[in-house]
Amino acid sequence: MRYIVFLMILLAVVVIYAVTRVLNTRKLKKGNTPKNNVIPLDAHRKSRKSTDEQPCSSCKKKNGKLIFYAQDDGSVVGLCKECQAKAKKRDMLPL
Ligand SMILES: [Zn+2]
Repeated sequence: MRYIVFLMILLAVVVIYAVTRVLNTRKLKKGNTPKNNVIPLDAHRKSRKSTDEQPCSSCKKKNGKLIFYAQDDGSVVGLCKECQAKAKKRDMLPL
């Protein structure tokens, strides 16, 4: 009988530990979401200042003014006029 009680307590401790871990991971994920949104915006602002010197993200040519597009993963790419057609085919959103 004592053995069963010990097992029950052990099981309860394990369950509580598991639940707190799951809750902590959720909190961490929630806390990271706003941060992830800020980084691409900052990169976008920085890249906007020196648009003329920046090479195209796709063909790496310095083809003058770049148009910036948001990718599915949240990153921002600057594309020249030639590569804008590719971006439109991929349904990328202009910023
Ligand atoms: Zn290009």
